[in-house]
Amino acid sequence: MGEASLPPVVGRFAPSPTGRMHAGNIFSALVCWLAVRLQDGRIVLRIEDLDAQRSRPEYAEQIMVDLEALGLSWDEGPYFQSDRSERYREALHALDEAGALYPCFCTRADLRSASAPHEGENQVYRGTCRYLSIEERAMRLQGRRRDRSNAAAVAYEPTLRVGCDERTIVIDDLFQGRVAYDLTRQCGDFVVRRSDGGASYQLAVVVDDDEQGVNLVVRGCDLLSSTPQQMHLQQLLGLATPHYGHIPLLVDEAGVRLAKRHQSASLEELYGRYRMPEAIIGHICALCGLIDEEEPLAPEELLERFTLESLVDRLAGERRILFTA
Ligand code: GLU
Repeated sequence: MGEASLPPVVGRFAPSPTGRMHAGNIFSALVCWLAVRLQDGRIVLRIEDLDAQRSRPEYAEQIMVDLEALGLSWDEGPYFQSDRSERYREALHALDEAGALYPCFCTRADLRSASAPHEGENQVYRGTCRYLSIEERAMRLQGRRRDRSNAAAVAYEPTLRVGCDERTIVIDDLFQGRVAYDLTRQCGDFVVRRSDGGASYQLAVVVDDDEQGVNLVVRGCDLLSSTPQQMHLQQLLGLATPHYGHIPLLVDEAGVRLAKRHQSASLEELYGRYRMPEAIIGHICALCGLIDEEEPLAPEELLERFTLESLVDRLAGERRILFTA
């Protein structure tokens, strides 16, 4: 009994297959891997390919090859979000039954809601469509359907938003400590179904984390502001909330999150410079303050140097790390 009866830790890698990995993605995957393996847990691989315009199967393949070569193993999956629309529809139905949803006709940036909104991308919704009368809603819906003849119009259905009532959501974050978030002021009602009928990132992640048994989510601080939205959905759907851990974000000199355009952080470039996967891991670990002296290291070797507590201590309270090549 005692500790042996605790449920096993289940973490996840959740890459979006929109390009090859870079130093920032590798750092997130590495800390996730360590946090899970240090607790003898399991890792699920989930490919987040809801954004059909930007996702490519060949990137998903490449990400898996790269993770394996870096020694970042997983135990289950890959699961593809593009295979799971039925599950998302069921969750939307449950939210609708609970009276939590309303149609929104403010169409801008609908499709972007398929991707995780990284830091600075969250917009506060002022609730414009929340209090439309039944007649007004019907009129707008009809107007949209008429526009169907307009070949330029991509989206015909309204998006669906979930209402957020005034309240504070508190996250007890593994790395960031206690973070309080005012959902109405900092986010507002948010999209759960896009105008093309697909699930938004926020909804899909909540449904998947639950169904895949994920109870530890380790990811970059740029997604910290998504967590209260996900917790709100978990509460509405009666799902358990995983333990969250948001690690510092790797940024460039201007404070911008690393992305594909940052050539020097790309895995190609890192292989060009460091040759071996262990040398890349060692460089990222030293840069991010996980080790004091840079040296080639496999993730397995790091397991011997850390406990969960010492891993957390090394990164606690940090929100950003400057990436240097
Ligand atoms: N798919 C997201 C990304 O690659 C991660 C989402 C998450 O960890 O919840 O940015």
